[in-house]
Amino acid sequence: MSLFETIHSDGHEQVVFFQDSNCGLKAIVAIHDTTLGPALGGARMWTYASEDEAIKDALRLAKGMTFKAAAAGLKLGGGKAVIMGNPKEDKSELLFRAFGRCVNTLGGRYITAEDVGTDVIDMEYVYMETPYVTGVDTAHGGSGNPAPFTAYGVYQGIKSALEFKTGKKSCKDLKIAVQGLGQVGWNLAKMLVKEGAIVFATDIDSELCKRAKDELKIQEIVHPDEIYSVNCDIFTPCALGSVINDKTIDQLKCKIIAGAANNQLDQESHGDILQKKGILYAPDYIVNAGGLINVYVELEGYSRERALRLCRSVYYNTKKVCKIAQEENISTHVAADRLVKHRLDALRKLQPHFNVFPREKFDKRR
Ligand code: NAD
Repeated sequence: MSLFETIHSDGHEQVVFFQDSNCGLKAIVAIHDTTLGPALGGARMWTYASEDEAIKDALRLAKGMTFKAAAAGLKLGGGKAVIMGNPKEDKSELLFRAFGRCVNTLGGRYITAEDVGTDVIDMEYVYMETPYVTGVDTAHGGSGNPAPFTAYGVYQGIKSALEFKTGKKSCKDLKIAVQGLGQVGWNLAKMLVKEGAIVFATDIDSELCKRAKDELKIQEIVHPDEIYSVNCDIFTPCALGSVINDKTIDQLKCKIIAGAANNQLDQESHGDILQKKGILYAPDYIVNAGGLINVYVELEGYSRERALRLCRSVYYNTKKVCKIAQEENISTHVAADRLVKHRLDALRKLQPHFNVFPREKFDKRR
């Protein structure tokens, strides 16, 4: 398939290539859909094996952001940037300032943020060159680390799926298996333990596991391979994508899956298998929208209270998706896509196509 055919097939609006030989910058910004608002999505820095792989990743991730923002009810479209390079070796002030200048040329059609391989320090450099960046330090009116908000959103998603599936409102005495004790998993496990859940957890980082056992009062740390077969009510993937796959799906003993990891289903068909097995899957991009909701509030003028209030929408959105799936007898991941499509189709009739976030709003933060 040619590049234009590839872009066209998934409905991307624009793909921009940037380079700066002074600092070795090679970046691709993919803008998928700005029907609902300017395209927001992080800048991923990764050692891609080829330019084709980098383009593919940018396109895939940008589309994912359209879905996440649309489902969360935000006035945002979907986009993503990828920077080709090794985040451990190739970072410099120059690189991120050059990237900031590139983002600035898009005039607000794309707003960047941190992602895998980039952090708040890199975004500080980007912010020196463009206002079109979120997740900057709180000193600049930014919202800081989004992970606690993502965790709070996942917690809301878990409560919603639980109520839908069992009628229960509390996680007290429920067995919950948490995969990954990183920034999101740690915060989530803490909330679940606080509510009285019996938490089983795992991480490939044994130090983290030890610390979690002591500090969070985790019931039991299990081996990473054993987390799938824990006899539990809820399995919450907070580590990697594709964890629901041919190898793991038959090991699952949970009633509900709700977690932070992106792209949890290895294949679409795994969502259908979960439905047949009677396991309620709360779709990843519905449940893990808390971080995006948090940076969205930054665009309005940041308020932590408002961010937390908006994160509650994950509860209602999860319920909405479960209901669509039940009424139409489809799996929840298909129901989520349908919810997104309805919103995009409706708003397409209302809005002009190219949305730009107003410059004055950013300038107010300076
Ligand atoms: P993180 O890197 O802080 O934590 C991930 C943890 O998973 C690490 O501690 C890592 O050691 C562990 N891990 C990796 N492979 C594992 C395995 N096979 N078994 C068990 N543990 C394993 O990342 P995070 O910010 O906590 O994000 C977790 C997931 O949620 C990621 O998939 C991320 O893309 C997604 N997500 C995060 C946010 C956010 O705000 N941070 C928002 C949306 C989605």
